[in-house]
Amino acid sequence: MLRQVSHGPVTRIHMARTAFGRPLFTVNAYLVADVLVDTGCPATARELLEWCRRQSIRLVVNTHHHEDHSGANALLNRELGLPIQAPARSVPILAEFDHIPLYRRVVWGRPTPFTPGRLPDLVEAGPYRFECIAFPGHSEDLVCLWEPTEGWLFAGDLFIRERVRYLRADEDACGVIASLRRALELQPRVLFCAHAGMVVDACAAIERKIAYWERIADRARALQAEGHPEREITRRLLGPEGWMTTVSLGEFSKGNLIRSLLRSGR
Ligand SMILES: [Zn+2]
Repeated sequence: MLRQVSHGPVTRIHMARTAFGRPLFTVNAYLVADVLVDTGCPATARELLEWCRRQSIRLVVNTHHHEDHSGANALLNRELGLPIQAPARSVPILAEFDHIPLYRRVVWGRPTPFTPGRLPDLVEAGPYRFECIAFPGHSEDLVCLWEPTEGWLFAGDLFIRERVRYLRADEDACGVIASLRRALELQPRVLFCAHAGMVVDACAAIERKIAYWERIADRARALQAEGHPEREITRRLLGPEGWMTTVSLGEFSKGNLIRSLLRSGR
């Protein structure tokens, strides 16, 4: 599935693999002037390629290596000759990116290894100038694109949504909070998020997200001090684990969020 939504000069490309006509998880890429930010997942790579054939694109950039952000890299480069750039830390991962857990292959498809160029510190897109800023936490290589004149932050997976209750095993929740605080210092006006879409009143949304996780962290620490095990703390604060925990064999779980929030202090 691929749908396009216009937000003034920014086009959001909304993509998902479908099962029985219904989207599984959705992800957004964005076209701003002649730069495409992220390339969706491997399962929608052909649809994105056909869409891109009708656009005027000069450059493709990735915010991080995850397969729902880099899934059409190889195809867009091979079929349209488009240059692809990714954060320096993403480059070696993308070059050998073919083994991902089964649940991610089911949701997003299987990635094709491809070696992109290195994303510079500054990217020009028509009249816009983006500063490429590292915001680690969700992944170590995450870089967001910041346009200070417009107040736009193309956030990749920095935000995702306000009330995130599931975390991947390799995510660092406290790192995400620290990165969100740094993003707040920029005073963004609009977030262009890979999952939440266009988020207006960006600062208020980021503040609510930080507050939600910090409330959970405080309560988790209090329960831990009373001697409750992590599993029980998770259940009491976030409810029982869902089907994604089972399908991912625990790689994507509520327990990961509690564990990560407890691992390091604020
Ligand atoms: Zn991601």
